[in-house]
Amino acid sequence: MKLYKCSNCKGEKPREEFFKNGARSLGIGSLCKVCDSKKQKERNRKKYFATYKGGNKEKIQAKEAVRYAVRVGKIKKELCSKCKIIDVEAHHYKGYEKENWFEIMWLCHKHHMQMHSKY
Ligand SMILES: [Zn+2]
Ligand SMILES: [Zn+2]
Ligand SMILES: [Zn+2]
Repeated sequence: MKLYKCSNCKGEKPREEFFKNGARSLGIGSLCKVCDSKKQKERNRKKYFATYKGGNKEKIQAKEAVRYAVRVGKIKKELCSKCKIIDVEAHHYKGYEKENWFEIMWLCHKHHMQMHSKY
């Protein structure tokens, strides 16, 4: 059986251990599946941090304000306005300025992300 070398972990593995990649001459990617999915996770995490933890203070404050208001009963969580799922997040459709802290739309994670990817 022919073995291929993963350019990340340097391990030699059979073809099945690599994802197909038509763009490369071998027809498989240069990373084994294990390394490939690790890298993918890494990329997603970086993206996540860039979007959500990117030092956006107003955004964090707005989220905190909503969380607090829900806890003290000032506002109530609603079902996702798209699919009626109960597990929702607050979407600040007007922005994160203080006057808009409670101008929110309740969306499940999926629809919330969809909302943001539009912009
Ligand atoms: Zn590898
Ligand atoms: Zn939804
Ligand atoms: Zn949002």
